Formats: sequence, structure tokens, C-alpha cells
Amino acid sequence: MPDYTVNVGNVEMISLHDGISTGNPLDTFPDTTIEQWREVPGILDENDQTAGRMGTTAVRSGGKLIVVDTGLQLPGAPLMDELKAKSVDRDAVDLVVFTHLHPDHIGWNLIDGKPTFPNARYLAPRQDWDYWSKPSVLEKAAFIGDQMVPLDDLDILDLMDDGYNVTNEMTAVLTPGHTPGHMSFAIASNGERGYILGDVAGNPIQAYFTDWCATYDQDKDAARATRHTVLDGLEADGSMVSAGHFPDPGFGRFVRIEGKRYWQGV
Ligand SMILES: [Zn+2]
Repeated sequence: MPDYTVNVGNVEMISLHDGISTGNPLDTFPDTTIEQWREVPGILDENDQTAGRMGTTAVRSGGKLIVVDTGLQLPGAPLMDELKAKSVDRDAVDLVVFTHLHPDHIGWNLIDGKPTFPNARYLAPRQDWDYWSKPSVLEKAAFIGDQMVPLDDLDILDLMDDGYNVTNEMTAVLTPGHTPGHMSFAIASNGERGYILGDVAGNPIQAYFTDWCATYDQDKDAARATRHTVLDGLEADGSMVSAGHFPDPGFGRFVRIEGKRYWQGV
């Protein structure tokens, strides 16, 4: 059984998810070929499908309990059961933090109009909120109206900029491209490094084909440039990474073997 908890210095990261599925990789990366996917070991199953996961990371840092991203809340989706199974008490969550405001990252913000994490403040990347709260964008994005606007109305939504300190061990890093204000979170504690990747990469094959963009990347040139910078840095410093859409539990490192970069899951 995979290990759902990793420690980075004094920080604990707990892997949770809101659903795991497999799919045809060419649906998400239509400009690629299945032969290219077969080049990289461990990415495809025997039916040429690749695994997808809607990941959430809970973090214990500096006496705070933080939830990063809240899944999609499809009918029957497991995030609430996952929280219970992994001893993450909803009432004890201090902060809910978003890497970005796509529907698969904000889905469980509220249940029946009430905050799922009743004692938490919610923290969103400022540029993403500015983008989706524009009337012309908002009217086409029901998920923002359902899962973000009520937080603002309840006055429990805060906005963060590049370099924002979530705790003194966890810092927001602007990593734009997938969305206008996409953020990742760098963790530094007791000489160790961790990183919550968000959707800078959505599939581990992008360790190897770093130029590849998923259909969901809103600005593909920016997403590609960000991905190169971030993955180069994580490879160089050996950070323990939590990658939300990578196979369960989504913890691992970017490593270079014989000149090529790979994702090495824990
Ligand atoms: Zn996503």
C-alpha cells in the first residue's frame, strides 16, 4: 500500500483524492502519438490508458492544518470519506488554499451552500480571482458562481500574491499558464524542500516531454515556459513533490537518468 503521508522537515503532507480514473491520453494531449507515450515506461497500462487522479494535499505546518484544492464533487465522489479515512478533521482545517480556480480544484468548497470547512478561511490566487470574477467570464463559469462567489459573499475569501507566506514554511509561487494566476507552493523546513505542483504538469510524462501541453492549459506558451522553469528547479533541488493529477499518491521526485528526466513516484 502506498504511503499517503510524507514529511518535509517539520511539515507533513497528506495525499487525498476525489476520484481516480483512467483514460485515453490522446484525449488530453491530442497533438501526441501513442508511440511517444509508449517511449516512457510506467505511464500507460496494458490497454494504453493513463491514470488520472483528482488530488488534494493536506498540510500540517506551523500548527496550522491546510487543505490545498478541493476536488470536483461529482456525485459519489470520495473526498469527504478520504478526509475521514486519513484523519483530516474538517472542523480543524484553518486554511483552504487553491492552486487555481478550475472546477476540479474548487468542487467541495461548499456543500448545500455552507462552507465544507466551517472554521477555515479560503485563499485564492489574486490573478485567477480577478480573471474569473469578471462579469463576461463569470457568466460562462457556473462553477465559480457555485463554489467561489459564495465564499466572497460570506467574507471568508482572501487573495494571495506571488511570495505570500501561507505559513513560515510554505510560500505561494506564481506559476502562470495553466490559468492566468496559477500558483504552486514551495515548502522549506529543517533543511528539506517540498513542492505542491498544482497543474504545472498534469501527467508524469511531462517530466520527459516537458514541451507538451494539455488541452486544459489556457496559455500554452506560458504554461510550457513555466513547466520548464519549475521542473528544472525541482530536479536540481530534489524537492519532494505532491503532484495532484499524477498516479496515487502523487508524491515523488523529478530525476534525471542517462540524460532524460523522469517522474519517480514514492
Ligand atoms: Zn486540474
